[in-house]
Amino acid sequence: MKLRSLETLEVGGRRVLLRADLNVPLEGGAVADDFRIRSSLPTLRELLDRGASRVVVCSHLGRPKGEPNPKYSLAPVARRLAELLGEEVPLAPGSAGPVPEGARVALLENLRFDPGEEKNDLAFAKALAALADRYVNDAFGAAHRAHASVAAVAGLLPAAAGRLLEREVEVLSGLLEAPARPFVAVVGGAKVSDKLGVLENLLARVDRLLVGGGMCFTFFRARGHGVGRSLLEEGQVESVARLIEGAGDRLMLPSDVVVAAAPEAGANTRTVAASAIPDDLAGYDIGPETARAYAREIRAARTVFWNGPMGVFEVEEFAAGTRAVAEAVALGGAYSVVGGGDSASALERLGLAGKVGHLSTGGGASLEMLEGRELPGLAPLWIG
Ligand code: AMP
Repeated sequence: MKLRSLETLEVGGRRVLLRADLNVPLEGGAVADDFRIRSSLPTLRELLDRGASRVVVCSHLGRPKGEPNPKYSLAPVARRLAELLGEEVPLAPGSAGPVPEGARVALLENLRFDPGEEKNDLAFAKALAALADRYVNDAFGAAHRAHASVAAVAGLLPAAAGRLLEREVEVLSGLLEAPARPFVAVVGGAKVSDKLGVLENLLARVDRLLVGGGMCFTFFRARGHGVGRSLLEEGQVESVARLIEGAGDRLMLPSDVVVAAAPEAGANTRTVAASAIPDDLAGYDIGPETARAYAREIRAARTVFWNGPMGVFEVEEFAAGTRAVAEAVALGGAYSVVGGGDSASALERLGLAGKVGHLSTGGGASLEMLEGRELPGLAPLWIG
């Protein structure tokens, strides 16, 4: 199966609606991290180079819940996009136009200001479709959402996948279909309930699955250990126990953890065995023995997938495990794929973002793909 590719779409002299993922962090009214904006440029430039008469770009930002809210305006994004593109990008006043005249590129206001977007409402999709003659979806970060601008609208105009979407899907399906082995996956983050599906699907495909972060305490509990005051999802203990049973030695859990009373700067920390977490403390990072073992596995791999920090990496005292994994992923010889969000910001902070094989723009979407789910944003674009 392939996505309908951009080169098959006639765009010369046509107006194109481009769904991009420009959902970026803002700080003090400016874009704090423009990775997603930069990642959207190749498709936008290609459309202009191929003579599109106008490109109407649209995106969501944050969660304004179906009503206009200046806090979530795309105005700072329009400014940054214009800088990067080197031409004017006026912002439309509304989520479905009217489109300001006079420029080759315009940006619609936040799609989620309209309640129709998240409801996949056909009337809202029709209003978007009326602004253009062609539709291009390049918003991988929104591909797991059945929203009007990614799902309903795709059936209303001749449509194709943008270059970023195409590349993301190619890389992630490659991990599932034919990874160079050994294939090692590293999964961390706060909640196991968010990631149980992806852990199950990955376990069937990887040579090693390394688990860290807040989720590992539910694994410890499933093995019958006390976890003190660490993050624990009681409701997931049974499912995790079943996962452990089926996993054999492909699953690796931390052997030691860094514990403290609270995840605060300046906290008194101590390293203990994973089976000996004191009742009054909580684990906030994998320990140094685990970090070394995980780094060894990662360095021995030919393909690595990483999603989610190994600990509370925002606080220096609990950042060492995530740093060790980030360095091994970025500096080892394997082809590395990193799912967005916190793992991307950890790499960014360490200056290693440019060293990975593929840094995904979509955290949630990449996990759903690796879970083996059909993404609503891709369904209308598959051919063959
Ligand atoms: P997620 O969004 O599920 O990838 O989770 C990321 C968050 O998990 C980060 O903000 C981390 O601070 C947090 N986290 C990682 N390890 C732990 C832990 N041991 N205890 C509590 N929170 C954690």
